[in-house]
Amino acid sequence: VSHYLKQIEAKKHIHAFLEVFEAEAIQKAQEIDAKIKNNTAGKLAGMVIGIKDNLAYKNHKVSAASKILEGFESIYTATAVERLIQEDAIIIGRLNCDEFAMGSSNENSAFGNVLNPIQEDKVPGGSSGGSAAALAAGLCTASIGSDTGGSIRQPASFTGLIGFKPTYGTISRYGLLAYASSFDQIGPFTNTIKDAALITAVMAGKDEYDGTAIQEDINEFPIEKIEKGSLKVGYISDCLESKGLNPEIKTKLEQTIQVLKKEGHTVEPVSFPYLDAMVPTYYVLTTAEASSNLSRYTGVHFGRLADNVKGVEETYKKSRSEGFGEEVKKRIMLGTFVLSHGYYDAYYTKGQKVRRIIQNKTNELLSEYDVLLLPTTPDTAFKIGGVKDAIQMYLQDIFTVQANLAGNPAISLPMGTHSNGLPFGLQLIGKHQKESELLSISAYLM
Ligand code: GLN
Repeated sequence: VSHYLKQIEAKKHIHAFLEVFEAEAIQKAQEIDAKIKNNTAGKLAGMVIGIKDNLAYKNHKVSAASKILEGFESIYTATAVERLIQEDAIIIGRLNCDEFAMGSSNENSAFGNVLNPIQEDKVPGGSSGGSAAALAAGLCTASIGSDTGGSIRQPASFTGLIGFKPTYGTISRYGLLAYASSFDQIGPFTNTIKDAALITAVMAGKDEYDGTAIQEDINEFPIEKIEKGSLKVGYISDCLESKGLNPEIKTKLEQTIQVLKKEGHTVEPVSFPYLDAMVPTYYVLTTAEASSNLSRYTGVHFGRLADNVKGVEETYKKSRSEGFGEEVKKRIMLGTFVLSHGYYDAYYTKGQKVRRIIQNKTNELLSEYDVLLLPTTPDTAFKIGGVKDAIQMYLQDIFTVQANLAGNPAISLPMGTHSNGLPFGLQLIGKHQKESELLSISAYLM
């Protein structure tokens, strides 16, 4: 803990942390040292973990990087965080992110952006940019993020880490501040597959506080050895051929395909002809859910109440106008529009239908292949302030939203360094609730 506290202080300028639980973490470490001596320590003893600031932790602030939650302290702990603590992980602090997890660059945080520790003039990705930057800069052993449309995998790709989004429902969402409830999933950033498997298994499993969580208890995700010639991998040719893909990322993917073939595995191109529908479907459905989820922030129940307001309408209006940032407001308006009477069928219902087609096609492919292989991101990390156009920013998610729309587990694996000096990842999408299989294949690939 003291090592990490020193590093955090030294790397303060990257702005990964919104708050460091210094005294508390040191005290915890002493308690755990004693447990280790008595042989009573939990599975995560020795791990120092940072949590994205959209996870509730009792008696600690949680802001979702928004002004609207100013001053708010959580009165309970998210199931995922509770389980980490139960196994003696030390929670070192709250990590910066895009406001309410909306963004791809961490430039939407109300408390300022995060620098990519690999090249500090670049974004770390988003929305879990603080989680990625903290681990990449060596400020913790692992970190926790949330992934609604790529927010773990994309920043992992931009910072050279493993970023894992389990199957929807594997980890309870209780205590995760909701963005789009039917998409949101908690997951870890780690340096090794072993850590990803361990931490995810600790957080996973049934939870009476989340009805959408899986119904079984989970103890571990065993990593099996992959035999030569045993895998069936489908690479999504539409992604490899897509115009926006950086040529060096494409080459690396092609090389990986060749290596797998040489090792006797079956590696075949598959077609997923819905790439153009991906981002629009994702943004219609997630903004709809966001507009509903964020209606609870009125200034009255949580966080910051506007000054000098009279009556309900003025209270809500002023608190929300002052409390929410640009991007969040835009999404609430978009979502309210797609859900509004007269437009609901044209947008929301249509979006749900397209989501079903994407789900069916993904599962159909995965009935023939063990995993799907595709890029994580079209490019490496971009310059801070470099992407000004909203559509351009939304297109960052083109390869990551499929797994959220379909609910499948997906992982970004660090696969090399571009000639520009920046890392990038490859993505694997696995079968529903087959995290062990996906992690085993990941370990083989790394
Ligand atoms: N970049 C996507 C968005 O802005 C993904 C966010 C996320 O996964 N939380 O919605």
